[in-house]
Amino acid sequence: MALRTLDSLGSLAGKRVIVRCDLNVPLKDGVITDDGRVRASLPTLNALIDQGARLVVCSHLGRPDGAPDAKYSLEPVAQRLSELLGKPVAFSRDTVGESAHEAVAALDDGDVAVIENLRFNPGETAKDDAARRAFADELAALGDALVSDGFGVVHRKQASVYDLAEILPSAAGLLIATELDVLDRLTENPERPYAVVLGGSKVSDKLGVIEHLLPRADKILVGGGMLFTFLAAQGFKVGKSLLEEDQIDRVKGYIATAAVKGVELILPVDAVMAASFSADADHVVAPADALEETAFGASGLGLDIGPETAKLFADAIRTSKTVFWNGPMGVFEMPAFAAGTKAVAQALTAVDGLSVVGGGDSAAAVRQLGFRDDQFGHISTGGGASLEFLEGKKLPGLEVLGWQ
Ligand code: ADP
Ligand code: MG
Repeated sequence: MALRTLDSLGSLAGKRVIVRCDLNVPLKDGVITDDGRVRASLPTLNALIDQGARLVVCSHLGRPDGAPDAKYSLEPVAQRLSELLGKPVAFSRDTVGESAHEAVAALDDGDVAVIENLRFNPGETAKDDAARRAFADELAALGDALVSDGFGVVHRKQASVYDLAEILPSAAGLLIATELDVLDRLTENPERPYAVVLGGSKVSDKLGVIEHLLPRADKILVGGGMLFTFLAAQGFKVGKSLLEEDQIDRVKGYIATAAVKGVELILPVDAVMAASFSADADHVVAPADALEETAFGASGLGLDIGPETAKLFADAIRTSKTVFWNGPMGVFEMPAFAAGTKAVAQALTAVDGLSVVGGGDSAAAVRQLGFRDDQFGHISTGGGASLEFLEGKKLPGLEVLGWQ
């Protein structure tokens, strides 16, 4: 069965439509530092507004502990949404309580209300089916239909993503449809050579992707925090760099498989070693097989790929026809360790073919480094979701919308 799209819901004029977005934006002191996810939600919201639907927009933000926590309030996001839509957006301090019902009851056709952070309620992420279902029932009381458009959370079996879609008439929004189109192009007959660039900090999370892509990609490039587990698997010392020791054997297996399958597994040849994890730390470039042979010795830590590696990666990327990139090459949040990420982003903009950036931090990185969205083929709003898709996993938030 195919994904149910917006038109499957019929006319939504005058109907209360709950729109599950992923408005989980990075915030610093209450200010949004990257509004990419808010912008990405606009096509669906505008389409529904144009139809005269009454929009009840919901999302999670951060990881509050199932209880209200002012620093994770969606209020600044509602404000930004109002600016981007160019119209007033009501905000309710309750997610499903009295003020949420009042805000929804006050909506006219084409009006928009945002309800408070879904994760202020323990039911949203509850593992217990009944607890999740009970919260979904409370949400369902606010709407006549659900448009699910939070691509970043479709890999989660959560109340607003999964259970609510079973209770109300539901369909996927335009963002999910676009994301799936692009990811389909990566999995079905990608134009070759096809390069996959992986970095970031969650090594064990991303190893499954490598496993799945080994038979499919032509080149796999490994940077970011995960590179040190690969270097350790080659027998190199990595000082105090990020290292998942229990994954070393698995990684050795990948290195062997890549050789057998003729996949180019491109590993760093140098890294930027720092005295400590701080923006103004002393740092120096070291070859991959001598990371502990700097002034910092075994206490140094690797915070970026080195310049030789950046060149190697850029060449491999530029000469590919399809590139998927997830995970910054280094601690790009600190300018001293952003060069590797910048070099990779630059190379992606030069790809003559399809270039895709996936992952919350990766998307934030390219914007922070001064790139424009339109310099890339596609910037995915979902990190974990796009990775699980590429791993070939079944995603509960899509299956419940009819996708197989
Ligand atoms: P994404 O959100 O794009 O999927 P991740 O969440 O996996 O990416 O990882 C992003 C984080 O990885 C960034 O905050 C970055 O600072 C961190 N990172 C990258 N390289 C390193 C490294 N060598 N050591 C520690 N952290 C790193
Ligand atoms: Mg991240």
